[in-house]
Amino acid sequence: MSENHHKVIIIGSGPAGLTAAIYASRANLEPIIFEGNQPGGQLTITTEVDNYPGFKDGIQGPELMDIMRAQAIRFGAKAYFKAATKVDFSERPFKITTDDDQNYTTDSVIIATGASARLLGIPSESKYMGFGVSACATCDGFFYKDKKVIVVGGGDTAMEEATYLTKFASEVLLIHRRDEFRASKIMEDRARKNPKVKFMTSQTIKEVLGTENFGMKSVTGVILENTKDGSTTEMEIDGIFIAIGHSPNTKIFGDQLQKDETGYLDTIPGTTKTNIEGVFAAGDVTDKTYRQAITAAGTGCMAALDAQHFLEDNEIA
Ligand code: FAD
Ligand code: NAP
Repeated sequence: MSENHHKVIIIGSGPAGLTAAIYASRANLEPIIFEGNQPGGQLTITTEVDNYPGFKDGIQGPELMDIMRAQAIRFGAKAYFKAATKVDFSERPFKITTDDDQNYTTDSVIIATGASARLLGIPSESKYMGFGVSACATCDGFFYKDKKVIVVGGGDTAMEEATYLTKFASEVLLIHRRDEFRASKIMEDRARKNPKVKFMTSQTIKEVLGTENFGMKSVTGVILENTKDGSTTEMEIDGIFIAIGHSPNTKIFGDQLQKDETGYLDTIPGTTKTNIEGVFAAGDVTDKTYRQAITAAGTGCMAALDAQHFLEDNEIA
């Protein structure tokens, strides 16, 4: 076999991909990882991670991911800063092409390409991401005790996050670009019944306002724009939660793998097996419910063990 042939190739370097790499390398499977355009995954765009077990005082997202990568490399995993651009799972060994036009073959694949939170796409949003702008209420809600926050969105996630945030925040302002909500009636009613949640419709965020002192950024307010008449309003606010949906990163797999109606990869319940034997999927790319670093790491571990058993059963490892 050529030097570009491997027993396990892991696509993605978030908690799922790097945990899979730790387990696969400790099983002597000599995995390689394609890190993609976001080495370390989603946690690299946040600051404090307070709910990952083992770090009692919390840890910065990028630091946590550097540690995970180092742990995988310690056992022999090799990480490459390249993205997979094409896959061919029609026969084994599987074929993967990367963005530097290299071709690889592999006996098994672990897909850990994650999901991306949809964002508004305004420059001030990315400037304050992790410093007052968040895409995850479960992750960051705790930091907003007695603060005033905005939730953007009109779907079930926005309703759920707005209701959840009332556990901490003094006031939650739910901002939606239309007058009608996409959310289910029950979720909307639950949010409406909560005295801490206020609704503002036909509004979008035009700009996030903030301060920067010695590199420490924080959000201080927003400029809202009325989607009907274009009028603007400035308002003081401590935090902004963007809850306008997620998109799984599954485009490169085309129709080769079974997906649900929203594009998340299907796996056989209780396993990480996809519809193709030897192709496994872990983390947010298969999970639209929990979307946490620890659940991604957990399924990354499962994927490596599933791949190991598959290789043993096929007398490859
Ligand atoms: P991701 O972290 O999304 O990683 C996906 C990886 O796939 C990336 O490395 C990317 O480069 C790679 N990739 C994608 N396409 C390709 C390709 N074609 N080729 C090669 N590589 C590819 N969770 C918590 O538990 N606690 C928190 O405090 C917390 N805070 C968060 C804060 C923010 C702002 C966000 C956005 C999320 C937060 N989360 C938190 C959620 C957590 O980050 C995710 O659940 C977790 O990162 C999912 O891990 P993953 O490995 O499945 O995918
Ligand atoms: P979603 O249903 O797609 O809703 C996204 C919302 O964000 C929509 O209201 C949309 O507005 C708005 N939006 C999108 N892009 C925007 C932009 N650029 N600027 C401003 N607003 C924007 O996504 P979701 O709420 O994450 O839900 C995804 C799926 O998970 C749904 O099937 C949902 O039912 C399910 N879910 C269920 C539960 C539950 O039952 N407990 C909880 C969470 C999620 P428009 O309406 O104008 O398009």
